[in-house]
Amino acid sequence: MHRLARALWLIPRCLHPQGPIPRRYSTPSAASSSVDSQVQRLLDGVLQGQRWALAEAITLVESTRAAKQQQATALLTLVLAEQQRRLREQGRDALSLRIGVSGSPGAGKSTFLECLGSYLANDERNHKVACLTIDPSSRITGGSLLGDKTRMANLSRNPRAFIRPSPSSGALGGVTRTTAEAILLCEAAGYDVVFVETVGSGQNEYVVADMVDVFVLIVAPGGGDELQAMKRGIMELCDVVVVNKADGDLLPAARRTQSDYISALKFLQPRSHSQSFPWRPKVVRVSSVTGEGMEKAWSTLEEFRGMALESGHLEEQRRRQNLLWMWRFVNDHLQDLFRNDPAVQRQAAATEHAVLQGTLTPLAGAQVLMEAYYRRK
Ligand code: GDP
Repeated sequence: MHRLARALWLIPRCLHPQGPIPRRYSTPSAASSSVDSQVQRLLDGVLQGQRWALAEAITLVESTRAAKQQQATALLTLVLAEQQRRLREQGRDALSLRIGVSGSPGAGKSTFLECLGSYLANDERNHKVACLTIDPSSRITGGSLLGDKTRMANLSRNPRAFIRPSPSSGALGGVTRTTAEAILLCEAAGYDVVFVETVGSGQNEYVVADMVDVFVLIVAPGGGDELQAMKRGIMELCDVVVVNKADGDLLPAARRTQSDYISALKFLQPRSHSQSFPWRPKVVRVSSVTGEGMEKAWSTLEEFRGMALESGHLEEQRRRQNLLWMWRFVNDHLQDLFRNDPAVQRQAAATEHAVLQGTLTPLAGAQVLMEAYYRRK
């Protein structure tokens, strides 16, 4: 079963374009009686916070094999039920904080995550920290900007931390879809701080912003050029800007960069701002090498979480994000159905050629393909 079809499996049967949807479990609570042993083993391991189980569970949701995808859906259904149960019992305290982290290559994202992650997962603070990375470069180059094994070496040895690079193949959409599922699995395993790291390269920030509670942009001190070059869209996405490398010779430049960002953000529409949640993006200065500023960075994120929980913004945003993802899955699925249709495929090459040559407008080209689709059989 296609991954998107798997997502659609959770939608009421009447809405499914291909008729009855196979459902192994009528309700999550009834699932335990019929759950297969592999899923049960993973579920038990994940709920006990076992890292091997979490790693295997994420591998399962990333699998493209039909049987594995069915198991993944079963597992996620049970995980969701468990999440609901914890919410009922523990209230909002059961909610993790999902933090998106982005920035240009070299800004210091992994060094920052290593430093902040270690700060949070020490004996005193006792947080459980998960870092999931999305690396679009791996798709294009076959290499990986984020997947380097030496990254976050200390944090990866910390028993309270879990680090998972995205798979090095597969489409961006595929990677991010499994990332959203991986977040749920991490939370089920007790990780209360979940970072989703991505390289600042454009579109993928928007996708990440749609799966996290708070979005952090990491920047290095610069002469103002970087701020000029920074896309307005990315600035508008962020709730917190972290000016990294505020140490040694770079400290004066870091101070200037901080005030540049404070000024620039005043003129932008913040991502998370409403009457009930009047958050204005904050700019903090840190050194991921000396650790200076980490306390401030974390207290800023905690302040965001506190306000977001208090005002209902956090839960409301998650509800909106869930709906958004549902429709994204539907869109993707329908597009796959359309593109893979033999009648469409027969017309596609010639129509694309005509649009490329400029002899057919994009709209007319789309109409040709849609007519082929509706007239098929
Ligand atoms: P990423 O590509 O954004 O993940 O950046 P990295 O974390 O790999 O860091 C890029 C370079 O900047 C490395 O050489 C780091 O040692 C260095 N770096 C990262 N954080 C700091 C910092 O706070 N201060 C200084 N001086 N260098 C840093």
